[in-house]
Amino acid sequence: MADKTIPYKIYLEESEMPRNWYNLRADMKNKPAPLLNPGTGQPMTAEELGGVFCADLVAQELDNDSPLFPIPDEILKFYKMYRPSPLVRAYCLEEKLQTPAKIYYKFEGNNTSGSHKLNSAIAQAYYAKKQGLKGVTTETGAGQWGTALAMACAYLDLDCKVYMVKVSYEQKPFRREVMRTYGASVTPSPSMTTEVGRKILAEHPGTTGSLGCAISEAVEVAVSNPGYRYVLGSVLNQVLLHQSVIGLETKTALDKYGVKPDMIIGCAGGGSNLGGLIAPFMGEKLRGEADYRIIAVEPASCPSFTRGVFAYDFCDTGMICPLAKMYTLGSGFIPAPNHAGGLRFHGMSPVLSQLYHDGLMEAVSVPQTAVFEAAEMFARVEGILPAPESSHAIRVAIDEALKCKETGEAKTIVFGLTGTGYFDMVAYEKFHEGQMDDYIPTDEELQKYFDTLPKVN
Ligand SMILES: *Cc1c(COP(=O)(O)O)cnc(C)c1O
Repeated sequence: MADKTIPYKIYLEESEMPRNWYNLRADMKNKPAPLLNPGTGQPMTAEELGGVFCADLVAQELDNDSPLFPIPDEILKFYKMYRPSPLVRAYCLEEKLQTPAKIYYKFEGNNTSGSHKLNSAIAQAYYAKKQGLKGVTTETGAGQWGTALAMACAYLDLDCKVYMVKVSYEQKPFRREVMRTYGASVTPSPSMTTEVGRKILAEHPGTTGSLGCAISEAVEVAVSNPGYRYVLGSVLNQVLLHQSVIGLETKTALDKYGVKPDMIIGCAGGGSNLGGLIAPFMGEKLRGEADYRIIAVEPASCPSFTRGVFAYDFCDTGMICPLAKMYTLGSGFIPAPNHAGGLRFHGMSPVLSQLYHDGLMEAVSVPQTAVFEAAEMFARVEGILPAPESSHAIRVAIDEALKCKETGEAKTIVFGLTGTGYFDMVAYEKFHEGQMDDYIPTDEELQKYFDTLPKVN
C-alpha cells in the first residue's frame, strides 16, 4: 500500500526553510474589516493600538498590503530548535481505514508547549523585547498558549503574567507547573486581582471562567502597568501572519514531491493554526492559480462559523477590547465546559471570517465523543497521542477518507495536527468511562447572546 517514493516523514533542508512570513491579506480582494474603537465606532489607529500591543506588532496587525514580512534572525534561530516540523504521510491510518485517500498531517506538537502556539509566542515576545518592555500579560485557556509564551519569555528574559481560565487551572495543575518552570506567574481567572475580574465574579459567582474573561483581566493588567503590553495567542491578523510558517513549510514539502492536495483541514478555535496552514494555498486560490477545498472544524458546543453571525463584536467578556468583525456567538457566550479548551473562544479570526463569508472555505462542527473516537484510533495507529483540539481535524480527515473509500477516489488530504494531548488525560478518562457528554447549545440559548451584540454599522 505504501507509496515508496514518498517518505513517511518529510522534513526540509536548511535552504528550503521559510525566511519570510506570508501575509494572506495582501491577496484578499475583500480585506478583513478593521478593528473598531468601541467608544467612537471608528477604526483603531496605530496610536490607540500601541497602548495595548507593541509597535512592530501593531504595524503587522494593520498591514493589509505587504505580502511578505522577513522573519528576524533571532526568531529564525529559535525556530531552529523545533522546526521544521514534520509533514507525515499517515500510511498506517490509511491502511486502517482501507481508504484509497492519501492522508498527510503537519505535526506541530514537537516542542514542550505541545502545540503550534510557540510560532507566534516567540515572535510576539521578540518584538516586546526589541521595544525595551519589561514584560507581557496574556490569557490562556487550556494552557498551551501560556506555556508557549512562558517558554518564549524565558528565552528572551522577559516577565510573563498569565491569566489562566479557572476550570483549566484546576483540571491541569501540571500545565501550571510547566509555565512556572519557565518563570511565568499564573493566576486563575476570573480573579480578585483586577477590577474586571471582581466585576465578573460579583455577577457570576462560582463561574469556571472563559477565555473572554481572562482576556479582559490580562488587558487590564497590561494597560495599568508601565512597561507591559498584552499579547494574544490567536484571532489577530498578526498571529495568523506568524503561523503562516506552518503552511509555507507544508507547501514546500509537498511541492518537493509533486503532491497537490485536494483538501486542507484544520481545527478552528480563534483560527490561527488553520489560517497559518492554509495561507499559501489560499493565496494561490485567491490569485486564481489553484483550487483547494479548505475545511474548518469546530466543536458543536462552540460553533462560531456554523451557527454564529458575521458581525462586529467584542473579543472579550469585559467589553474593554476593540470590536472585531467576525463570526461570533456573542462575547457573553460561555460554552459548556467541553474538553477542547483551545476551541472555546466565542469568535473567529476576522481574516478567516471574511474568507468564509466570501465562500472561499467551508466549516463543519463535530460533537466531542466522535472527536475522541477519532483521537483514540489515531493514537493507536499513528503513535501520537493527539490534543483534543487537533482531534477535531482528525475526525473530519477520517470522515473524508471514508467518503473516498465509498467513491473509490484517491484524494489527497492534508490536515493540521496542532498538538499533543498529554495534559488532557482527564478528558480521555471521561471518554473511556463513558461520561463524556455532547452538549450542544439550543437556538434559543444562542439567540440570547446575539441579542446583546453591540450595534455598529
Ligand atoms: C490553541 C490550540 C488550538 C486552537 O487555536 P487556533 O488559534 O484556532 O489555532 C488548536 N490546537 C491546539 C493544540 C491548541 O493549543
